[in-house]
Amino acid sequence: MLHTEFGQKGKEVKASLGVIGSGIIGLCTALEAQRNGYRVTLFDRDEPGLGASFGNAGFLATELIEPLSTPKTLRSALTLWLNPNGPLSLPLQYLINIAPWLVKFIKAAKPESLASSRHGLIQLNQNSIGAWQRCLDDIGASEQIVKSGYLLVWESSSKLDEALKQQRWLSENGIVTELVQGERLVELEPALKETVSHALHFPEACRVREPYELCKLLFSSFMARGGTFIQEEVKQITPGTGQSSLKAGSKIESQIEVKTGTETEPYSFEKVIVCAGAWSKKLLEGVGLHVPLEAERGYHLTIPEAGVMLNHSIGSAERKFVMGPLDSGLRVVGITQLGGLKLGPFKHCFNILRHNSYKLLPELNNPSLNITEWMGHRPTLPDSLPVIDRHPQCPQLLFSFGNQHLGLTHAALAAELVIQLMQNSTTKMDLSPYRVNRF
Ligand SMILES: Cc1cc2nc3c(=O)[nH]c(=O)nc-3n(C[C@H](O)[C@H](O)[C@H](O)COP(=O)(O)OP(=O)(O)OC[C@H]3O[C@@H](n4cnc5c(N)ncnc54)[C@H](O)[C@@H]3O)c2cc1C
Repeated sequence: MLHTEFGQKGKEVKASLGVIGSGIIGLCTALEAQRNGYRVTLFDRDEPGLGASFGNAGFLATELIEPLSTPKTLRSALTLWLNPNGPLSLPLQYLINIAPWLVKFIKAAKPESLASSRHGLIQLNQNSIGAWQRCLDDIGASEQIVKSGYLLVWESSSKLDEALKQQRWLSENGIVTELVQGERLVELEPALKETVSHALHFPEACRVREPYELCKLLFSSFMARGGTFIQEEVKQITPGTGQSSLKAGSKIESQIEVKTGTETEPYSFEKVIVCAGAWSKKLLEGVGLHVPLEAERGYHLTIPEAGVMLNHSIGSAERKFVMGPLDSGLRVVGITQLGGLKLGPFKHCFNILRHNSYKLLPELNNPSLNITEWMGHRPTLPDSLPVIDRHPQCPQLLFSFGNQHLGLTHAALAAELVIQLMQNSTTKMDLSPYRVNRF
């Protein structure tokens, strides 16, 4: 058990706040709360940044404005599932558990739901990079974001029309791309010379240098600013009794208790924010809220010395996986596996990533390369939108989770929004799409 406390300095302290979960969402939230004068205690059962935030692709995917559930996805789902090298995996032993979620997922593809989810994603994505710049400027780490650009690539030349259609659709939604092929493509990404026919180039796209290092940096800033970190598993949150008490001359609302897995007395805070990623569902059930949150498992390979250089983050439109350069090496990520929190990783999913990456970069098919494998849990709701809200009956208990494939992209903005909500300030955007009881 690690329990570290630092003294408070600087700003006027407003209230005590417990933040549950020290993934990228919890870390950004904890720092933003400190900026606003709160006395923050961060809980995690592990060291910070070891959940989904550890092994993502590091890509700030603001162009991903289409929710996961669309008529197109539903039409292609069976083919994707049956394809042995396809991106969709639904383990048979989990099928019965996932059925209710799938029903909601299918409903989310209805035109009016889809339009509203798309709107919800667009407003988050459009404001994400600015929020990251504010967060990183504040801790003197603006170099952590790199404007690397993104290439969405097609191997098959017969799919030029598909790229043009995608380009038109993106442009209608305000996203500028350049269709590149031939010499222009080679100039941008020489390593794909032999394997890629054409691509859409997103020149403004950004990535982070290294997702886990970013988590560690945010955590050390949090601690240096007087934060407290408690490495214990939160078992139960108990909203206050409704009684008010007087402290330091000011009236405060009732306290919220946070019980951990240890024998100690519960911790007590004036406000609590749940940022427990894919594990948030159980904590919400304990406070009477039921959210259809699933663990959408994703896999990665990291190749420290790949012997091949990529300039951009690369997404394969046909194979549905992403790869890109990070400080730790070349990272290949993908797979949507609806398999819950308990099953271990499936070996064949790593092999699918190997197979697909070799198709784009044949040099990687080299048995002497050192490759590390990892699986993590994306927190995913059926409409692909996160929850950024407060408890309907207990306004001091707030939530920020469920950012599916976009948690890194959204983290700094989600932090600003949830803290604005907590302070009853005007929020930068309409938060109604992210209500906790929308299902
Ligand atoms: C393969 C893969 C690639 C991805 N690529 C990208 C990408 O390129 N760009 C992007 O924007 N997003 C990407 N994502 C998604 C992104 O990583 C997630 O959305 C994001 O990391 C979620 O952050 P989080 O803080 O909500 O959850 P997590 O990082 O999972 O953190 C939750 C934390 O809560 C803790 N916790 C849970 N329950 C408790 C409890 N009861 N008590 C104490 N602690 C608890 C956990 O230990 C964990 O540390 C990817 C995800 C995967 C899996």
